Amino acid sequence: MTSEEFRKNAHKAVDWVADYLENIEHYPVKSQVAPGDIGNQIPSYPPEDSEVFDNLMSDLDQIIMPGITHWQHPNFHAYFSGNNSYPSIIAELLTAGLGAQCMIWETSPAAAELEEKMMEWLKSLMGLPKQWHGVIQDTASTSTLAAILTAREQKTKSNQLGMSAERLRIYCSTQTHSSIDKAVRIAGIGSNNLVKVDVDEHLAMNPEKLAHAIKNDLSAGYVPTAVVSTLGTTSTLAMDPVDAIDNIAKQYQIWHHVDAAYAGSAFVLPHERPAGLTHIDSYVFNPHKWLFTNFDCSAYYVKDKDKLIDTFEILPEYLKTGTRGRVNDYRDWGIPLGRRFRALKLWFVLRTFGAKGIRARISDHIDHGKWLAEQIDSHISFELLIPRTLNLVVFRYKTSQGDPNVLNQSLLEQINASGRAYLTHTKINGNYGLRLVAGQTYLKRKHIENVWKLICSTAASLDQ
Ligand SMILES: *Cc1c(COP(=O)(O)O)cnc(C)c1O
Repeated sequence: MTSEEFRKNAHKAVDWVADYLENIEHYPVKSQVAPGDIGNQIPSYPPEDSEVFDNLMSDLDQIIMPGITHWQHPNFHAYFSGNNSYPSIIAELLTAGLGAQCMIWETSPAAAELEEKMMEWLKSLMGLPKQWHGVIQDTASTSTLAAILTAREQKTKSNQLGMSAERLRIYCSTQTHSSIDKAVRIAGIGSNNLVKVDVDEHLAMNPEKLAHAIKNDLSAGYVPTAVVSTLGTTSTLAMDPVDAIDNIAKQYQIWHHVDAAYAGSAFVLPHERPAGLTHIDSYVFNPHKWLFTNFDCSAYYVKDKDKLIDTFEILPEYLKTGTRGRVNDYRDWGIPLGRRFRALKLWFVLRTFGAKGIRARISDHIDHGKWLAEQIDSHISFELLIPRTLNLVVFRYKTSQGDPNVLNQSLLEQINASGRAYLTHTKINGNYGLRLVAGQTYLKRKHIENVWKLICSTAASLDQ
């Protein structure tokens, strides 16, 4: 492709994206294809000869689009949203155009310095402790792994000595995200040494049970190493009592990591901010979920950056530079050497929306969740399985006959098969509930009203 062809084709691609987002409500939210449907249409070998661009675009429409689930559809209410926005998309295009590899300051000083500033901006936007140092990681999973590896290094110096015979223990609640299970496996700590602490009636970690578990472990010869609190669990957005957990972490001198992957974006609203973050050791939230910055972009903060760098710094001759110590070389702040220039899209998003714009949209989303929760709560045939938190509503259809779990599972399947909305489910104390997140970038009140009508009419049809 020549530069002239690039200019022409890229304009077509931009028009394609604009058309796509303008018309997104005409697509079925959840892809309706069966396994193999897409793969079977792709040749087994790459072409010998060059193909023309227009053929690629028509295959995108014909082959790929039926197999896309439309995460930017306003009625995408599944999992947690993975939002984009126009400024974020433009910045991604520019990032690809620059094609810079941002492993150290020297490989693109602007990338390192903008990243440092964007992490400062996010701190001030969210009211996070001023003394923290931030770095962009690809995902919350990687950020949490970095936290566990740092905690491990603090206790064992295993980077140099290899894995110790000591049995390290990590604590989290029974509601914690699976990325913590993965992190303890990768870190060589082992699933058996991940202690899942019981929760209270709000599904938040019970700090007394945590203290009890640590005490038991100490007397059994284990080495308590880290506790992971969650602000906004994936199932129900439960908020662990970070304050009380931090007191225990300090008492036993263990690392305290806080996972606010989704809910962290809500802290742009001062009244939603949690207490107790000041002394924690590390923190993660994902702008790529609810902050209009397309995947991937995870904001990871630490109280003591030397401990982080101690864990990941490695210095071969070919990476030695004259600026070390005066600038941030972010390859020493995480696992990969190579790094994308992710700060650019945050810069574009935060300047285009403005802090006010971001607060307004997040606050609207919470209002939509509140509205829906009120409809459900006052409807004779529906109930909330747990009180609404932020913009997450977990509910079920009530039935006098049959198994409510089976009924609600078919309710979910039928809603998703309609193509008009996409919800997922969770189970609370054995009860199956539909889980609706009101957080898509382009969500308006009318979309929530429509999905509520769809839920009611689908449920009514199940009764017949
Ligand atoms: C989504 C989520 C994660 C995982 O995020 P990734 O960036 O996909 O790794 C971790 N913790 C919580 C609470 C989440 O909601």
